[in-house]
Amino acid sequence: MARLLCLLLLGGQLAVVAPAAEEPQPVALYESGLATLDIGRRQVPLGYSVSVFGPVFTLRSIVVQLGGELKLGPLYQSHELILGDTQFLFGPGSSAVTVGTEIYPLTQAPIPAEDGLKVPLDLLETIYGEKMGYEFQWDPAGRTLKVRRQPQRQVPVTIDLVHLQGITTVVLQFPYQPRYRIHRAANLIEVELIGDRLNPEMVKALPTDPLVRDVKLGQQEIRLVLAKDVEAEDYILQDPFRLVFDVYRKTPATSAPTLDPTPPTRSSGVRTIVIDPGHGGSDTGAIGLSGTQEKDLTLTLARALRARLMERMPVRVVLTRNEDAELPLETRTALANQQKADLFISLHLNSVQSPTANGAETYFSSLEASDEYAAQAAETENLVAAAGDDGDALYDLQLILWDLAQSQYLAQSQQFAKLVQDELNDALGLNNRGVKQAPFRVLIGASMPAVLVECGFLSNPEEEQALLDPAYRSQLINALVRAVMRYRAAVMGPRALADEALP
Ligand SMILES: [Zn+2]
Repeated sequence: MARLLCLLLLGGQLAVVAPAAEEPQPVALYESGLATLDIGRRQVPLGYSVSVFGPVFTLRSIVVQLGGELKLGPLYQSHELILGDTQFLFGPGSSAVTVGTEIYPLTQAPIPAEDGLKVPLDLLETIYGEKMGYEFQWDPAGRTLKVRRQPQRQVPVTIDLVHLQGITTVVLQFPYQPRYRIHRAANLIEVELIGDRLNPEMVKALPTDPLVRDVKLGQQEIRLVLAKDVEAEDYILQDPFRLVFDVYRKTPATSAPTLDPTPPTRSSGVRTIVIDPGHGGSDTGAIGLSGTQEKDLTLTLARALRARLMERMPVRVVLTRNEDAELPLETRTALANQQKADLFISLHLNSVQSPTANGAETYFSSLEASDEYAAQAAETENLVAAAGDDGDALYDLQLILWDLAQSQYLAQSQQFAKLVQDELNDALGLNNRGVKQAPFRVLIGASMPAVLVECGFLSNPEEEQALLDPAYRSQLINALVRAVMRYRAAVMGPRALADEALP
């Protein structure tokens, strides 16, 4: 966004603070002590404090009583609670909780204390409400936190089944997210509601299907009876809440596996790639001297890259946006997570004060910027996008998200970033600006190797003209395609690639 960019430029010395350096603001506590945790027949002591935002409770004591596995994340700041198949991430200084790939705000940030982290009521409700069916009630006069079962609900459900190109998709649609568990057995998937009952009025006849033999609706469970030798993948769609199962035939085992003692390092390889054209809508991104807008150029590049990647290799390529639309940064990575992408590429164009700066830069994400310049680049992209809606409440969260989602892909992100940078330097004879690390919000939270490519400088009039030339863009795209090919070869190994080439 031009306005913010100017602000940053005019600011000149605008402080760039890595989020890791931000200390959580101490919160004044009005009282602290021991309350009672009342779980029906059991009453146990529970540490509590009261801040201006309301009461907070010692999480560890509640986890002991209600279940779950609590652990400290790889970074000291983050806490992780695993309950069934759901991961909850939160930490002091962050007034938000991440549930899977979803982010929910909290009334206040958890507070570190001697007896462990103290957390607000709405975090407890998020953790133990949806999944376990518990509700919490705080009685300040009696200093008692009551835990009760939520009353049973009648949950309406709509079931749809579609078969398309060898895949049967079963969609269970609910007006809100029910509490449920998924059980899997041979040829059977059961979705069991926790505490609630299904509304039986919504049953309708489903078409006969080659992969899903039957869908049975019980009072509290939905059973998918599958054909032999099929696999099913489940995922969630929101608004309205849908639990989706993609059912497909298992690929037949390749011949003579006994002759090859080394198993493939990664079975999935690089099959789905998400390309993220930076900015969009009222967020124009950088603007060149002759008026080129970053958001338009990134979309042009992304579409061309998508087409060429699919020409060259058997991959599925998804764009985070395929029109001039505004899209929050968190949504972009959430989308990549939802698509189960194996690679995430965010495309941008650079802009700085000096009109002579030129070249491409490839970033992978980290909490610490590799140098002051990288920190400023990240700040510019983050600032521009934070002008949208949610901004600050979620900003703290990048620490935690990064901690958990991206850290395990750090080495692969770095490897891919280096390949991209090498290819861009070779193809375009660009000034080597190298691979850098910076806390880009768009990369944080991606559960896959992820890079951000600044394809050139719009603030450099010569480079702006070059980027407007289709032949130059084509070279740029080819360089990116080669980087992906080299990365795929490295990840999948030559044998897997050769198998793939067979009809
Ligand atoms: Zn940008």
